[in-house]
Amino acid sequence: MLLEIQGVSTYYGQIQALKGVSLQVAQGEIVALVGANGAGKTTLLNTISGLLKARRGRILFDGQEITNRNPASIVQAGISHVPEHRQVFGTMTVHDNLLLGAYHRYRRVGRKQVEQDIQRVFEIFPRLAERRKQLAGTLSGGEQQMLAIGRGLMARPKLILMDEPSLGLAPLLVKDLFQIIASLRDSQQTVLLVEQNARGALKLADRAYVLETGRVVLSGPSQELLQDERVQAAYLGGKAVLAPGHAEDHPSHLPTRR
Ligand code: ATP
Repeated sequence: MLLEIQGVSTYYGQIQALKGVSLQVAQGEIVALVGANGAGKTTLLNTISGLLKARRGRILFDGQEITNRNPASIVQAGISHVPEHRQVFGTMTVHDNLLLGAYHRYRRVGRKQVEQDIQRVFEIFPRLAERRKQLAGTLSGGEQQMLAIGRGLMARPKLILMDEPSLGLAPLLVKDLFQIIASLRDSQQTVLLVEQNARGALKLADRAYVLETGRVVLSGPSQELLQDERVQAAYLGGKAVLAPGHAEDHPSHLPTRR
């Protein structure tokens, strides 16, 4: 396994946001993490990338333990985090935002390699190539999201964590974006994708985990989860199908949209 999370619990002070979460991501897989607002998806990504500390459990990556290492050393180990709400550097150009994504390996690999990697990002996102000299703050929301992912790819990560990339994008753009993420599979890029758009995420991922109030409640191949009645009822806008007596099997939090 490239990433192995074993029984991780994370707290905000007294509040326990993750309650013994375990999951795995194999090399080359796209794995989706779906769940309602507040389920703990962002908390899990932040715990993996070292922004939050796990109070219990272990995180193994590429054969080494990375639990509670500092964020810089986790980037060095090969994990890139594309946070929620994009967070590009608005007063810098598209090109320079991408350059920054390669910051930690610039001295090691040199300018030529980094420029080649920028070209690769431009091939994936032609819109960014057209706007390479434009200030990032003047891009549309969708373009900024592409830039944030492109910057994540500039680290040449073994694993890229994406937090709600579809948030706030128009439906047509969401479709494009999901297609681009799916195309990363062809280059063997491993992705852990957090999404409230469960249907879109399940369609594109190989496997998925459903998180509810800090716990994994379901997991499996995405195609199976798409067919699962509980998932359909709670996350895909289907009808509730379980008998009332089985309420404990039933996801208790309906997704809410922002
Ligand atoms: P969203 O899509 O809304 O970001 P999420 O699944 O990513 O949802 P988290 O943001 O990880 O959920 O939140 C998990 C739980 O931790 C929630 O109950 C939330 O209220 C709580 N939480 C998140 N951030 C903090 C914080 N800084 N301080 C206290 N509690 C927090």
